[in-house]
Amino acid sequence: MLSKVITNLSPSATFAMAQKSEELKAQGINIVNMSVGEPDFDTPEHIKAAATAAIEANWSKYSPVSGYKSLKEAACGKLLRENGLEFSPSQIVVSNGAKQSICNAVLALVNPGDEVIIPAPFWVSYPQMVKLAQGIPVSPEATIESQYKISPEQLEAAITPRTKLLILCSPCNPSGAVYSRSELEALAEVVLRHEGLYVISDEIYEHINYVGEHASIAAVPGMRERTMVVNGVSKAYAMTGWRIGYIAAPQWIADACNMLQGQYTSGPCSVSQKAAEAALNGPQECVELMRQSFQRRRDLIVRLMRGIPGLEVNEPEGAFYLFPRCSAYLGGRFKTATELAMYLLETGHVATVGGDAFGAPGCLRLSYATSEENIIEAAARIKRALETL
Ligand code: PMP
Ligand code: GLU
Repeated sequence: MLSKVITNLSPSATFAMAQKSEELKAQGINIVNMSVGEPDFDTPEHIKAAATAAIEANWSKYSPVSGYKSLKEAACGKLLRENGLEFSPSQIVVSNGAKQSICNAVLALVNPGDEVIIPAPFWVSYPQMVKLAQGIPVSPEATIESQYKISPEQLEAAITPRTKLLILCSPCNPSGAVYSRSELEALAEVVLRHEGLYVISDEIYEHINYVGEHASIAAVPGMRERTMVVNGVSKAYAMTGWRIGYIAAPQWIADACNMLQGQYTSGPCSVSQKAAEAALNGPQECVELMRQSFQRRRDLIVRLMRGIPGLEVNEPEGAFYLFPRCSAYLGGRFKTATELAMYLLETGHVATVGGDAFGAPGCLRLSYATSEENIIEAAARIKRALETL
């Protein structure tokens, strides 16, 4: 029999939907896939060249568990240059994607029965990682009316003596919400009132921001010792398959993540690390070009989806997801947004993800990291499928 911990987990809804979409495609059905969130661009040439050179130069042995020192130095350089955060390489742990970085940090801090605050809507994997650590996810809710952001009062109300961790994601997957510096300062003020409360700040969408300067809660005075900053190369450099993410954390937490990783995965792929180093140290124009392209797509999808009756569409400030409220279509034929997403897939031939797995059961998530042509086609298909109900 499987363990209780595993039995208690749910499969990743994003990957599950992507797989269903692939199955239909394999049957010859033309599907517009807006389920899984990953840039559709190719990895920039100078990054691929660095990987090829690494293979030729035989970077083929185990790396140190926490990553090559040169990559950790590159991450420190980036954190200082872009975020004004000073870390030493020993405080960086490089992992198999930001996903593992977050999971390491959760497992390093959470005891069975500890509570972890995960504002909803949230990325599907956070509560599952907490469950893996036998912690208890607690989710104050943000809605479209609050631009999908929680207030300091909501945070305060969610804290109990058992609260260990807050997981914050800005820019946010799935809502696209971006917390401003002053909003983060207000949340930090609450965190700092509670000793023993730590923050995982997931900044993987940092560069996909349409409102301007990215702010990190770690930069608020007093928060450096409380915050684990998570970032990586997947989204900014179109490198999802290379599997490189990292954490920058207080030394004792970085040491714990290093130890944990040393026992169950070792350091991430050597060649990918050399590619990530080139991404962080190299020219950054590619990042801005992709951001501009995402912004054009954001504008397009917002305009098109606002033309569909019954969908409430806000303007996401970052990341590459649209998170419309679709509750007007729920309660009758479709009990949940996941059922609606299945209908849109099977009848409309557009793959989306129901908001249920993101802690927002009245919403749908559409990844617009796809061509403008696909976005236009998807919106037309969704409109038709909803009109025929
Ligand atoms: N955090 C968020 C919010 C994400 O959307 C993703 C993308 N899956 C990740 C972390 C993990 O990214 P990766 O493991 O590809 O670095
Ligand atoms: N971040 C992407 C998404 O949310 C990748 C899939 C995943 O890791 O869940 O769709």
